[in-house]
Amino acid sequence: MSYDCIIIGGGIGGLQAAIQLGRYNHNIAIVDNGSGRSTLCKEYHNILGWPDGVSGDFFREQGRKQALSYSVNLIEDTACSITKKDNGTFVVHLENGADLPGKKLLLATGLTERIPNLSGIYPCLGKSIYICPDCDGYEITNKKTIVIGSGNKGAHLSLLLTYWTEDIIYVNHDLEEIDKDLKAKLKTNHIPLYQEEVSELHCKEEGYISGITLSNGYKIEANHAFLAMKGTKVNSDIAKNIGVERLENMHIHVNPRTKETNVPNVWAVGDLVNHSQLLSVAMGDGAQAAIWIHKSLQSS
Ligand SMILES: Cc1cc2nc3c(=O)[nH]c(=O)nc-3n(C[C@H](O)[C@H](O)[C@H](O)COP(=O)(O)OP(=O)(O)OC[C@H]3O[C@@H](n4cnc5c(N)ncnc54)[C@H](O)[C@@H]3O)c2cc1C
Repeated sequence: MSYDCIIIGGGIGGLQAAIQLGRYNHNIAIVDNGSGRSTLCKEYHNILGWPDGVSGDFFREQGRKQALSYSVNLIEDTACSITKKDNGTFVVHLENGADLPGKKLLLATGLTERIPNLSGIYPCLGKSIYICPDCDGYEITNKKTIVIGSGNKGAHLSLLLTYWTEDIIYVNHDLEEIDKDLKAKLKTNHIPLYQEEVSELHCKEEGYISGITLSNGYKIEANHAFLAMKGTKVNSDIAKNIGVERLENMHIHVNPRTKETNVPNVWAVGDLVNHSQLLSVAMGDGAQAAIWIHKSLQSS
C-alpha cells in the first residue's frame, strides 16, 4: 500500500500538516523520532491564546491525538534515507528496516540545537533560559541576564539584547575568538565579558536559574540567561540524495506560496526552511503545505 503523503518529522510543522491532510481523508503516515526543538521548549510565551505560556510537549501531545483522530498513521522511528522512483513517487527507509512507499513527501525535520552540557539546564529552556530573542527578548525587559555563548555569536546576541535590558553579562563558554570590533562594542555597551566555561548552573527551583559558577570558581547571580551556542545543525541531509536544493546554511529553499521544494512532490516546512524559526511559522507552513499537497493529490 502506498501512502498519499509521508511526513518526516512530527513536531509542530509536521503535526499541523498531518491534521490538515487527515481532514481531507488522505492516507497519511508521519514518522517521528521524538526529539526536536518543540520537545525542548518548556514554555512558549509568544503564542496567541497562551499569555501564561504553554509547553512544546503539550502541543505535541495534543497534535498527535488530533492527527490520530483522522486516522493518520503515527510511526515512532527515524527516517534514514529516501529513494526517488522513476514514476515520481518515493520510498522512505526507516531505521527499523521498514520501507514506506508514498506519492508525496513532506519534510519537517527541523533543527538540532546544541545545548551546553550543564546539569539542570533542560527544565529551564523557555522558562528562564532562552534561545530566540524574537521569542523571549521581552522576558528579560530591564532584567539582569547572562548570555552563555560561543565567540562572536554570543557577542552579537549580547549586543542585540540591549534592546530589552542594559544589564547583560557575556560568558564566552566555548572560549572562541571574539573579533576586536565586537569586543570594543561590548565595552562601549558596558557588557562585562568572561572568557571562562560555565561549570555549574544554580536553580532556585526546577526550571528557574539563580546563577552560574564559572570554571575559575567565580559566581554570577541572575534569574535569566540566553544561549548563543555554535553548532546548530539543520536536519536537511535526508533531502540531499533526492536532489532537494539546500542553501549555504543547509536550510531548504521552498516556493513561498506552496512550500514545495525544487523537487516535484516534495514539500518542506518549519525550522528546516530558511525563514524565522518560530512555532507559529512552522504551524502556518504545515497548514499551507498540506493545502498544496491536497491540490496536487487531486490532480494526479
Ligand atoms: C529552547 C527553545 C525555545 C523556543 N522558544 C520559542 C518561543 O518562545 N516561541 C516560538 O515561536 N518558537 C520558539 N522556539 C522555536 C520552536 O520550537 C520551533 O520553531 C518549532 O519547534 C519548529 O517546529 P518544527 O516542526 O519545524 O521542528 P521541531 O519541533 O523541532 O520538530 C522536528 C521533528 O522532526 C523529528 N525528526 C527529525 N529528523 C527526523 C528523522 N530523520 N526521522 C524521524 N523524525 C525526525 C524530530 O524528532 C522532531 O519531532 C524555541 C526553540 C527552542 C529550542
